[in-house]
Amino acid sequence: MSTRLDHRNPLVFDTHELGRRPGALQRITREVAAAADLGIDGVIGVPEGSPVELDLRLESVMEGVLVTGTARATAEGECVRCLVPLRREVAADYQEMFSYPNPDSDDARGHRKAAADDAAEEDEDVTPLEDGMFDLEPLLRDAVVLALPMQPVCREDCAGLCAECGADLNENPDHHHDAVDIRWAALQGLAGSLGTDEKDDMSGAEAGVDEKQEK
Ligand SMILES: [Zn+2]
Ligand SMILES: [Zn+2]
Repeated sequence: MSTRLDHRNPLVFDTHELGRRPGALQRITREVAAAADLGIDGVIGVPEGSPVELDLRLESVMEGVLVTGTARATAEGECVRCLVPLRREVAADYQEMFSYPNPDSDDARGHRKAAADDAAEEDEDVTPLEDGMFDLEPLLRDAVVLALPMQPVCREDCAGLCAECGADLNENPDHHHDAVDIRWAALQGLAGSLGTDEKDDMSGAEAGVDEKQEK
């Protein structure tokens, strides 16, 4: 909580210019370089350093500043079915209420109750402004993850890869393995294992035969 925000950080925004008069509006557009791990780890994400276009609308309200906006970027990943590389244009919407940290200084109207709930609220969906500034980073990160597909596919009807040999079924729509082939392979496997068993039995063959005759 006590960490000071650095105004030089491109994801830190200053609300001083907006002022505190409810209804005041400010639009900000800014291009930033994507931070590391912006996306869904190992699935799809915005490559580190690539441009992220930020469009923010700051609105002064009684309790603080309501921030609404959209981030646009290009994410890269691969199709979960056929593993070809793919790109997705992402438009991630976000909204957050950043409150003035000291409710005592606000208008008295309706704030007695708010003050009582303050501790709980601050931990939930209301983030306090720090020196009139806020950090968009956590908001941006959550919004981008939500906007990305959990299971990206190169196209909706991607046929994926053959589960047995890995052939691309998009390029070979008629590709299949006959059931006979599978059974044959199973028999071959069985024959192979019998072969080794036989070898093992050979050494103790006589003992085995004797046992059978006794019964
Ligand atoms: Zn695919
Ligand atoms: Zn196959």
